[in-house]
Amino acid sequence: VAKRLSGKTILITGASSGIGRATALEFVKTAPDVRLILTARRQEQLEELKSEIGAVSGAAEVLVRKLDVSDPADIKKFWAELPKEEWKDRLDVLVNNAGLVKGLEHVGDIAEEDVNIMYNTNVTGLINMTQAVIPLFKARDAGTVINIGSIAGREPYPGGSIYCSTKAAVRAFTEALRKELVSTRIRVAVIDPGQVETEFSVVRFRGDKSKADAVYAGVEPLTGEDIAEIVVFVAGRRENVVIADTLVFPSHQG
Ligand code: NDP
Repeated sequence: VAKRLSGKTILITGASSGIGRATALEFVKTAPDVRLILTARRQEQLEELKSEIGAVSGAAEVLVRKLDVSDPADIKKFWAELPKEEWKDRLDVLVNNAGLVKGLEHVGDIAEEDVNIMYNTNVTGLINMTQAVIPLFKARDAGTVINIGSIAGREPYPGGSIYCSTKAAVRAFTEALRKELVSTRIRVAVIDPGQVETEFSVVRFRGDKSKADAVYAGVEPLTGEDIAEIVVFVAGRRENVVIADTLVFPSHQG
């Protein structure tokens, strides 16, 4: 795997915390000379991660870019400003990880603004990022898109109408895209995690830690690293091998 990922260029959205952050570190641990484009809204966390990566491997190249995937104009600007020959044309893997829950109210009570934030980030942002890489990957007939979905996309629950439907959309989008690209060597995959303890766990309850902890009663949640290992595994297969669909639970999650 180290050999296959050696020198590869990997773009991660939502790399400032949780699964995205762990994924960046896992790529570096696996292939120390990997080239990473780390994006999220919080640039300070990305710069900290860059320093941490530097301490793990002096051979890794890291580019930090502030990027709000929910804003199509910001996505356009990001791609326009990304150095062409050094980064854009060498892109091998896109990890569409940025995502959030904003409000778990029932349908009649959820604010329009929260609906828009979830859809614009989890769905439209992911689509816009993917649309930008397809021509780059097609030009080289190579490349991997890994989308982070969720068990929520397969098993919707009350209060999760918006979030769950965004993740169902990620799943359907990924499957359709993989089929559209079967005549190419571009790989498309979705990874659906169950419960993972990250900032997400608290963000979804608008910062209420006691509510967040209650979700994990009787379950030892996964860590960001658990999912990161799978992302790297999927990316690190031989180029003819597509692990198209992965569902990952902690052992006690029913
Ligand atoms: P975190 O809250 O730790 O990480 C979410 C990341 O997404 C952050 O880096 C955040 O960065 C980024 N992000 C949020 N909104 C935007 C935006 N508009 N533009 C760019 N980046 C954004 O949670 P997780 O690591 O758990 O979440 C990662 C993914 O995993 C999400 O897609 C989530 O839906 C999914 N998931 C999580 C599960 C869990 O139980 N934790 C279970 C199943 C799926 P910043 O705020 O700096 O922009």
